[in-house]
Amino acid sequence: MTTILGCIADDFTGATDLAGLLARSGVRVSLRIGVPTTPPTDTAAFEVIALKSRTASVTEAVAETRAALRWLQAAGAKRFFWKYCSTFDSTAKGNIGPVAEALMTDLGTDQTIYCPAFPENGRAVFMGNLFVGQQPLSESPMKDHPLTPMQDSNLMRLLAPQVTRPVGLADRLTVATGAQALRGKLASLGAEGVAHVVVDAVADKDLQIIATACRDMPLITGGSAIAMPLPALYLADGTLSKDAAKRATPAIGTGTIVLSGSCSAMTNAQVAHYIATGAAAFQLDPLAIADHGIAAPLDWLAAQDLDRAPLIYATAHPARVKAAQNKIGVARTGEMIEQALAACAIAARDHGARRVIVAGGETSGAVTKALGVAQLDIGAEIAPGVPWTFCQSGGHQIALTLKSGNFGTESFFSDAQMRLGAE
Ligand code: ADP
Repeated sequence: MTTILGCIADDFTGATDLAGLLARSGVRVSLRIGVPTTPPTDTAAFEVIALKSRTASVTEAVAETRAALRWLQAAGAKRFFWKYCSTFDSTAKGNIGPVAEALMTDLGTDQTIYCPAFPENGRAVFMGNLFVGQQPLSESPMKDHPLTPMQDSNLMRLLAPQVTRPVGLADRLTVATGAQALRGKLASLGAEGVAHVVVDAVADKDLQIIATACRDMPLITGGSAIAMPLPALYLADGTLSKDAAKRATPAIGTGTIVLSGSCSAMTNAQVAHYIATGAAAFQLDPLAIADHGIAAPLDWLAAQDLDRAPLIYATAHPARVKAAQNKIGVARTGEMIEQALAACAIAARDHGARRVIVAGGETSGAVTKALGVAQLDIGAEIAPGVPWTFCQSGGHQIALTLKSGNFGTESFFSDAQMRLGAE
């Protein structure tokens, strides 16, 4: 089907987050990992391309995003969404501004909006300043981020050095007045030559107004939340046909494997909780793998009843992680564990697992790569920002959920299984 909205996300978990919010509407959402190398086929009304461009060089990020745009245009899309983090993660050089400007040039449009607000997750924009909970961005933990430290909360000041054309603001006073007032403000800013408009939003109601006013702009940019109202608006105004494909749950075998490579506090709690439910579990030990390889976990896996959803985990508390890293090196330990879990994913699939639950952002990347997954259809949400997805791997239809470290509650691994069972 013709794509109505073509979305490009600057990282993988951001893409799943956006895809999950769009799929809340019940319509089919398809996610592609990287720019597809073949022309569009079997496209959905909402297509999301996941890039890895957040911390890439500006040149690389712009080139990759333009390639994604061309693919989405070939899929029929006329409206586009550029998704970045709700904490506006970028360096002074970019990549948010340069990418948006390149997309505007390619689309021949003179104006776009910037709205990273995500009220449900505590991200608000007021008078152009971004807040994380009750703190301004530059006083939040984001000020110390290792790759993209955010030391200013003012989005206009952050954006101005990244773009060549004027930056302006449509503030909450305008947004609160309604969609028509916002359209008027955008038009008057446009008449003054303002190409980049930061738009305030502090509550879901604001997002609804912004989406209503901006739904036909060639390019919208923001966090994932501003896209959430779009499917319903496109259905209501007939842009999206009522007969458009719905989100569907295919028949999936029952064999299940849980693979956990995140060492976050929440994942540690999730692993402990799952083991306490009586699940069979095997702990990967980096030192043992360095000495003896992965024969032991693979032998253990081969003996498991996959209908009882066994767990293989490297998840450990900080002291244990440090000890392994001191001995083997940080990068090598990480890589080794990721490869071990990726090998377990393949072995589990070949042993009959059709439901794969993965914890850890990097771990998810390694597992999807090993399983040869390039396209995912989005299913039901298990926790905010973490949907089930459906894809092909090794000639099998499988269900896959990819959870980044701190997402979900303690019972996530059981919740995921129940959620799929309920579909
Ligand atoms: P998160 O989403 O929590 O950041 P990731 O999968 O992105 O999780 O990152 C966790 C990293 O820690 C991975 O590179 C993984 O291989 C590594 N890791 C997992 N378990 C251990 C361990 N026991 N010791 C050292 N490193 C580990």
